[in-house]
Amino acid sequence: MELTPPFLAASCCHCEHCRKHSGNFGSMAMEVPREQMKILSGDDLLASWRPAPGLAIRFFCRRCGSSLYGMNEPESETVWVRMGVLEADPGLRPSRHTWVDSAPAWLPVPEDGLPRYSRRSS
Ligand SMILES: [Zn+2]
Repeated sequence: MELTPPFLAASCCHCEHCRKHSGNFGSMAMEVPREQMKILSGDDLLASWRPAPGLAIRFFCRRCGSSLYGMNEPESETVWVRMGVLEADPGLRPSRHTWVDSAPAWLPVPEDGLPRYSRRSS
């Protein structure tokens, strides 16, 4: 995957679907205009999961299982790239926590001063 800056925002999502998809607390992702993301190889290894109609589609690698990116709709103009798969620092830091009411009891949302939203922020 190749990403061309500038990127739009970074967000820490605590929703149950990100949690189940990642097998972790949720996901840390950054919003990237779709035309600024290129899949360089391995298209055939991409698989997707949409928990239910109307919820974001999540793409992952069928070989290694890594959660790679997601989008609200197939025609969305932006994608949310999982920051854990980046090989270099994108220079962007999380600016908010979303779906905080869904955070698991075993890992409360940190008190880091970032804005918190009970659902999606935009
Ligand atoms: Zn989420």
